[in-house]
Amino acid sequence: MTYDVAIIGGGISGLTTAYDLQRSGRRVIVLERQQTVGGNAISQRINGFLMEHGPTTLNTLVPQALELTKNLDIENQLLDLGLGVRKRYLRDGGTLHGIGIKRTGFLMSPYLSVRGRLRLMTEILRPRKTNNEDESIHAFICRRFGIEFAEKIMAPLVAGIFAGDAHKLSLQSAFPKLMKMEQQFGSVTRGVFNAGHSGEPGKRLFSFRDGIATLPKTLANAMAGCIKTGTAVKSVSKHPQGYRLETHRSGDLIARTIVFAVQPHVAASLLEPLDEPAATAAAAIDAPPLSVIFLAYARQQVSHRLDSLGFLSVAGSGGIINGAQFPSTMFANRAPDGFVSISAYVGGSGNHDAACLNSNDLSHLVHRELSDLLEISGEPIFSRCRQWARSIPQYEIGHSVKVSTIEALHLRQPGLYVTGNYLGGVSVGSCIEQARATASKINCYLPDVAQVAPANARAGISARA
Ligand SMILES: Cc1cc2nc3c(=O)[nH]c(=O)nc-3n(C[C@H](O)[C@H](O)[C@H](O)COP(=O)(O)OP(=O)(O)OC[C@H]3O[C@@H](n4cnc5c(N)ncnc54)[C@H](O)[C@@H]3O)c2cc1C
Repeated sequence: MTYDVAIIGGGISGLTTAYDLQRSGRRVIVLERQQTVGGNAISQRINGFLMEHGPTTLNTLVPQALELTKNLDIENQLLDLGLGVRKRYLRDGGTLHGIGIKRTGFLMSPYLSVRGRLRLMTEILRPRKTNNEDESIHAFICRRFGIEFAEKIMAPLVAGIFAGDAHKLSLQSAFPKLMKMEQQFGSVTRGVFNAGHSGEPGKRLFSFRDGIATLPKTLANAMAGCIKTGTAVKSVSKHPQGYRLETHRSGDLIARTIVFAVQPHVAASLLEPLDEPAATAAAAIDAPPLSVIFLAYARQQVSHRLDSLGFLSVAGSGGIINGAQFPSTMFANRAPDGFVSISAYVGGSGNHDAACLNSNDLSHLVHRELSDLLEISGEPIFSRCRQWARSIPQYEIGHSVKVSTIEALHLRQPGLYVTGNYLGGVSVGSCIEQARATASKINCYLPDVAQVAPANARAGISARA
């Protein structure tokens, strides 16, 4: 059988692309190397606790994630952020500084000096940048909000979101909305007020009762029959009817179009014989190692209120933890009554060695560091460690040029498409947005759907309305 579309990779990106195309009546196959779908969206129940190995929250600022939830009819499983989230904590040296989550939190807190807060308030008066040169996040924030805000707030935030370095990451690629606010309104502050966004995370972040993996699992269930797990694609080559895929377990497959929904280094190696410019651009996108250390405690072991999403560490604070989340505060149903959980993040850009320590050492070091910061007594009830050899792609300065080269693949090689977290945003929501755009492009490229719809029906594939 010739498929309309073969999708390599069964993470959020690949599954969403497949879901949209299948709903359009296309003959679709998803090939996933692992035994389960979801990519790095893995939610695991352990003794009544829920460990998220990868993403922990979705954000309503990218509406596509909520839309997909509605399409899949799983709105009843949504969870808003817990009411216990009252502060954000920044760790500077050995101290956690609690800051109110309202928009005015940074102005009211003594965490920034008076001078630093004045600089923040006068952002509205700063001149707008006049050239279009790509700029680092650090340079932009220094220019608009001052160096204290850049180093004590933005740098830890960038390390938390991207496992990245604000000096190296491109504002235009990583935070395009901030750049547009400056261009359009002359000031980020004015842009935020105009957009009417709430500064409070509780109004924006959500998850599911059984974790983020609910999304890929439900997508896969809706497409049962057209997903092959445990099937790694070894190579892709041209074929008279489109492309031939050589797989590890399922022999060869033929498809008219291919979507590469894999990590950039995998896309680079599969694309090398097909399109040198895209392969080179994808190979140049780094994704540093990152470890997630999950620790479970009885509530009475931890003196700290844990009244937050968690904390972020300012560079030079000592220790190995970049930041930590408090899952049992963030969402209901994350720990049994009377117990709490903490997820710490170690590694990222410039911190490879720490991420690659062995898992026992990591758990031990993280527990010791948290014990000092959060006043924890005794040992954790249990700990688990997930080590991502390549975590989050780095949108470094010049990233947009790589993206343009990769996205133009289908113009040089008709029928070949790339989608994923290294193109239009790293968040799950951005991956969904990107995947839907990829599916639309393929629908435009393939002939009228009426020709293939009956075959889909024969294969017993249900297109959910
Ligand atoms: C620790 C961590 C925390 C995060 N936290 C958040 C968060 O809180 N909120 C948020 O929105 N985002 C978060 N993210 C980012 C987000 O999770 C990812 O960007 C997103 O899940 C990526 O999805 P994807 O489908 O593009 O890629 P992936 O999930 O990487 O999927 C790619 C898939 O391709 C498969 N594959 C690879 N090679 C082959 C092959 N040869 N043949 C077949 N299959 C192959 C892989 O097995 C994998 O399943 C986090 C990421 C990490 C690592």
